[in-house]
Amino acid sequence: HLENVGFIGLGNMGSHMARNLVMAGYKVTVHDINENSMKKFADDGIPTKQSPLEISETSDVVITMLPSSSHVLDVYNGSNGLLRGGGPLRPWLYIDSSTVDPQTSRNISTTISRCHLKEKRGYAEKPMILDAPVSGGVPAAEAGKLTFMVGGLEETYIAAKPLLLSMGKKTIYCGGAGNGSAAKICNNMAMAISMLGVSEAFALGQNLGIKASTLTDIFNCSSARCWSSDTYNPVPGVMEGVPSSRNYNGGFTSKLMAKDLDLAMASATGVGFKCPMGSEALETYRKLCEDGSELKDFSCAFRHCYAGKDE
Ligand code: NAD
Repeated sequence: HLENVGFIGLGNMGSHMARNLVMAGYKVTVHDINENSMKKFADDGIPTKQSPLEISETSDVVITMLPSSSHVLDVYNGSNGLLRGGGPLRPWLYIDSSTVDPQTSRNISTTISRCHLKEKRGYAEKPMILDAPVSGGVPAAEAGKLTFMVGGLEETYIAAKPLLLSMGKKTIYCGGAGNGSAAKICNNMAMAISMLGVSEAFALGQNLGIKASTLTDIFNCSSARCWSSDTYNPVPGVMEGVPSSRNYNGGFTSKLMAKDLDLAMASATGVGFKCPMGSEALETYRKLCEDGSELKDFSCAFRHCYAGKDE
């Protein structure tokens, strides 16, 4: 039932995810608007298609891994989009792993629920959809160790789990449509705030005469310990193999972080909730992007905000 997988969006993340599906034995067909990205797959004998609509014609399940909401809406509803066949749909399952706002996920889910299947396939009487954004970044995508946060019907989640686990190490069911996206943007808002908090504390420590490496040792066995202190330290020279040790290159760009904070703030406004620290973090990341660090890893906030300008 899940044999033929269409994959759309072969960027930093999606290219690795699609290749892991191929390695797991799925029959994968791919599409990207970027011809160069598609050529790499074609050269390896993996079938490519020129539009989402063509992908949908040969797939049982379609996975999208696109930059943001507008791209996802385009791929679903655009003139050659997944849902523009003009009749019943062939894929019975749609999985969007892009980081988008929960409302976009819910809108697409509502659209899908109005569609019909071409034939009765697998577990579903009607086409199903999951929002399944990921955490883990490019190295985890490559190693097949992503974590999926999944929103949608629980039975659909259970049916999709083996497929997700061929690209990741963990799946977490978050509830109905849009809840995976909600979980993802909350996670990233907390990550941004903790990165800025840790960076500020390291900078204060340095100004008070404590070395960042000493303070890191203390944080990591004390109550300030967090991912930004023990796994992704923002101070150059404290940890090896993280973006701060290579001039903040590679990793998760400040531009994507600003996008995710934007989604979180827009979602908060949508439900009349205020996030003062989230909006402060958004301002910081917007400023950082304007100042030319948009393609640097988001941990460059340490150098940029607290230890002088980024180069
Ligand atoms: P990316 O920009 O590297 O890749 C996106 C791909 O989508 C590109 O190849 C682009 O050509 C393609 N694309 C854009 N519009 C298209 C369209 N209309 N039709 C077909 N293809 C189209 O982005 P990425 O880093 O792979 O991230 C993808 C998503 O995953 C984003 O939402 C991002 O926030 C999220 N994410 C990224 C990371 C990370 O570390 N990079 C980690 C977790 C989540």
